Amino acid sequence: MDKKETILHSAGRSLGGATLPHFKGTAESETIIMPPPKSVAIPLQQHIGVPCEPTVKAGDKVYVGTKIGDSEKLVCAPVHSSVSGTVTKITDVIPANGKPVKMVFIESDGLMEPDPKIAPVKVETEEDLVKAARECGLVGLGGAGFPAHVKLTKRPGVELDTLIINGAECEPYITADYRECMENAEDILNGLYLVKKILGLKKVIIGVEDNKPKALKKLAEIASEKYDAEDEVKVMRLKSRYPQGAEKVLIYSTTKRKLPLGKLPSDIGCIVMNITSISALSKYIKTGMPLVTKRITVDGDAIKNPCNVLVPIGTSAEEIIEFCGGFTEEPDKIILGGPMMGNAIVSTDVVIAKPNNAVLCFKEKKPHISTACIKCGRCIAACPMNLTPAAVEAKVSRKKLDADFFSKMNVGYCMECGCCSFVCPAKRELVQAMRIAKNEMRRNVK
Ligand code: SF4
Ligand code: SF4
Repeated sequence: MDKKETILHSAGRSLGGATLPHFKGTAESETIIMPPPKSVAIPLQQHIGVPCEPTVKAGDKVYVGTKIGDSEKLVCAPVHSSVSGTVTKITDVIPANGKPVKMVFIESDGLMEPDPKIAPVKVETEEDLVKAARECGLVGLGGAGFPAHVKLTKRPGVELDTLIINGAECEPYITADYRECMENAEDILNGLYLVKKILGLKKVIIGVEDNKPKALKKLAEIASEKYDAEDEVKVMRLKSRYPQGAEKVLIYSTTKRKLPLGKLPSDIGCIVMNITSISALSKYIKTGMPLVTKRITVDGDAIKNPCNVLVPIGTSAEEIIEFCGGFTEEPDKIILGGPMMGNAIVSTDVVIAKPNNAVLCFKEKKPHISTACIKCGRCIAACPMNLTPAAVEAKVSRKKLDADFFSKMNVGYCMECGCCSFVCPAKRELVQAMRIAKNEMRRNVK
């Protein structure tokens, strides 16, 4: 084996976590392109940060890739039309999380005509790279939704040396990033080599869990064929242990650097990008078409034809489910995202935004019966952030909402990964308690 074909193994155990059944039943389902829906509803905030203001009005003609929302604020990513057609209305909608968001409703003309202004983009400098990431409307596509151009902007006095590509995809069921590796590995590698060159980084580590051997092999083969004379791009086999893809855990698994609480990856020399995000950046530079589609894993025992489907952003979950043959029987639970960190939804009229990667539908909701905490400490051992969820839950379950106590317990650092709940033999509602405690702390911020 050529030295550049070597797949590195991450050493030993990562930070806490749990071993989950992975159920990656759609892994070999090649992406199906969904025909354009009759209409889309595109949220003007699909990222962490400031919402966009509309740049179109009702009655305007738009094309695929026409900018429909933007802002001058730094932490904001523009939003583009995912179909060609006519804007019918722009209005506030209250989604599942209860926070109103402005949406642009567009009736499709069925033609999917690209915006005539779209053209390949030249990227030669750091400024070009940041501008490209912004104009692409790129955000963290693994679920985080943080604007990519902010991540790629070098802060004065901060030295960066390593780009970490997150291909862990550690949530059960979801195979959207895996399909990106299998179908578009070259775009992934073109993107990461470009970022490495422009930002002058010393190395790139692509982290993929060991339950995806074909993706590991594919990335390693392509990396070995191309450009990498100095052998600075490594593919790393990571242990399948949830939440391997969480930023802090991934940084530790790939570099053994510990991210202190409250610090950014760049403070310890790293940039972390999701594997589909780096591929999307590469495609944007090649074609000029911004981020207007998303691959969604549709799975669960209530779905007739589980598969991976590429949909225009703003398509409703209902239309996607119908496209996948509908339900085998009425589901008890529908989740937008993975079973660990996704959000249960009560209605399928919710639309797909950039950070979404799965729609999961399950027949039977198992009854939840909690028993008393047996003080086994498993939740503490499993927590990747070294928190003590049992102590927080003990307060919350007794309705003792004490913001000072929660602050002392570092509740603000909980990433809501759900490991504590998963490992608890007493089935205590630990992650729910952490959410309540976080809300209480936010409520108490003067
Ligand atoms: S306390 Fe938070 S970060 Fe720790 S395991 Fe539970 S959900 Fe994850
Ligand atoms: S895992 Fe469950 S039973 Fe064990 S200490 Fe934590 S809350 Fe208690």
